[in-house]
Amino acid sequence: MLNASLAELSALLRAKKISSVEMTQEFLARINQLNPSLNAFVTLDQELTLTEARAADARLAAGEAGPLLGVPLAHKDIFCADGWRTTCGSKMLENFIAPYDAHVISQFKQAGSVNLGKLNMDEFAMGSSNETSYYGKVRNPWDVNAVPGGSSGGSAAAVAARMAPAATGTDTGGSIRQPAALCGISGLKPTYGVVSRYGMIAFASSLDQAGPMAKTAEDLGLMLNVMAGFDERDSTSLERPAEDYCRDLAKPLAGLKIGLPKEYFAEGLSADVAKAVEAAIAEYRKLGAETVEVSLPNTRLSIPVYYVLAPAEASSNLSRFDGVRYGYRAPEYGDLNDMYEKTRAQGFGDEVKRRIMIGTYVLSHGYYDAYYIQAQKLRRLIAQDFVEAFNQCDVIMGPTSPSTAFNFGEKGDDPVAMYLSDIYTIATNLAGLPGMSIPCGFGDNGRPVGLQIIGNYFAEARMLNVAHQLQQATDWHLRAPTI
Ligand code: GLN
Repeated sequence: MLNASLAELSALLRAKKISSVEMTQEFLARINQLNPSLNAFVTLDQELTLTEARAADARLAAGEAGPLLGVPLAHKDIFCADGWRTTCGSKMLENFIAPYDAHVISQFKQAGSVNLGKLNMDEFAMGSSNETSYYGKVRNPWDVNAVPGGSSGGSAAAVAARMAPAATGTDTGGSIRQPAALCGISGLKPTYGVVSRYGMIAFASSLDQAGPMAKTAEDLGLMLNVMAGFDERDSTSLERPAEDYCRDLAKPLAGLKIGLPKEYFAEGLSADVAKAVEAAIAEYRKLGAETVEVSLPNTRLSIPVYYVLAPAEASSNLSRFDGVRYGYRAPEYGDLNDMYEKTRAQGFGDEVKRRIMIGTYVLSHGYYDAYYIQAQKLRRLIAQDFVEAFNQCDVIMGPTSPSTAFNFGEKGDDPVAMYLSDIYTIATNLAGLPGMSIPCGFGDNGRPVGLQIIGNYFAEARMLNVAHQLQQATDWHLRAPTI
């Protein structure tokens, strides 16, 4: 059962083969067994979890039959969940019990899914390796010496290790797709504005987007059906008719045009990753797709543009953590300014401080035009690259990450090397486009490789169709680590 998809678990519940409480207990047992070594969860509360499972069983007994009713899931610790400690991977929020539900959490509650616990992550979602979490690093279940990716590394590791059948994540520059790739699972970052950011702790608001992480494309669709939708509490939430993201899963791919950006297969890509990605593309040709070369000429600008804009927004968003109303406060201080300074000096880790300093600098008088405004202009050019590419193809494919999972400490001392691990994912966020990663093989070291699929705005159903068809023809997504 631990290997079952959400769709299969849901069928077991509806056929009354097992109760939600029993199913939840199986996953809790797996979590208790593996969490001491993997550290994927930061907060567990069996009582809260089982209360939700009992409520789901009551709804099932009353004849309700929603697709995720009674199914257990876990949530990245960036989502406020009423009554749950919500830390965002930071000491700053070590004692913060959320007094309300994020939109994503309330949607899952309404659907009747059960919260297994809160998942570890890089501090304030800043990182690509989970090494910046105040609560310790998450280990990759394929190899405990390897990083799980970040920032949704706890989510990816938990799903890969079968501690949770699926999880939520967030993606500002790759944080769903890159950990999904490094842990051998599937993950989807929707079009910006499709999922409400209400109650999701903000990093860079114009880039942040929540999405599902699971074993199969079908499960991603089932979760997105629950997560998506207009919410007036987020001013960037889009008002669009509801869709069934699973509606096109079974469509044949004949005639699909796949764009292969030449910049994504250039210098910097590991040979073993290239080989697995090319094999997946060959499989797509067998399924009837055609490939065309496209160009995203501004790809090399996406990292520098992101590292101006994301820190700028972060420096503003993180100014709320001042020790006054909630969260950490320094135990000893003089006047009010001293309280702010000591609280922030002690409450934030190094990477968060680095970004706040960069952000404050690029927004300061005298540098604003040279950095922030310039980066906004380049952001527009990067988005324009995709508009042109999508004139020639239906979806874009390439690697999710330039290498398989790296070892702990390998990039920890070199922020720029770490930032480069998002070279293929960041432009999607800058353009607001949907992107996903699905497993497509293994590298020379036996660690998973992810295939990235980028779609046009609101093409999630098509992307899930494309991913599902590969998953019908291959079994990479069913491979599980032995742990
Ligand atoms: N790794 C990128 C960063 O450190 C992206 C993080 C994210 O998507 N949340 O900012």
